[in-house]
Amino acid sequence: MKQGDVIFTNQDGEIQIKCPICQSERIETRNIGMKAGGTLGAAAGATAGIAGAMSGAEAGAAVGLAGGPVGVAIGGLFGAIMGGLVGAAAGGSAGAGIGKIVDDTMLENYYCLDCDHSFGKQDI
Ligand SMILES: [Zn+2]
Repeated sequence: MKQGDVIFTNQDGEIQIKCPICQSERIETRNIGMKAGGTLGAAAGATAGIAGAMSGAEAGAAVGLAGGPVGVAIGGLFGAIMGGLVGAAAGGSAGAGIGKIVDDTMLENYYCLDCDHSFGKQDI
């Protein structure tokens, strides 16, 4: 770290960002892309998860065969739920990851609470 850097770490080792205009340390991180990406990713993942739910239901039903008709029903339901949940979770985290990259590279992700200046990593 050389003199004049606007990103530095505090005593706790957390990354601190200073406003390039007024040097304030009261900076808010917006994470718009991360939030949007997480939501979109979860939706996309749930959609993809439906396909997983179908195969999960089949696999569950196959396993449930040993338990008779009730086993097939329970196995199928369990498989479907697992497929959908896994898809949504995976999609959500993938979407949030992509959104974070968008935040870091394209959006003005930082907001100065002292002078209302918005700035991105590319500005500092
Ligand atoms: Zn400022």
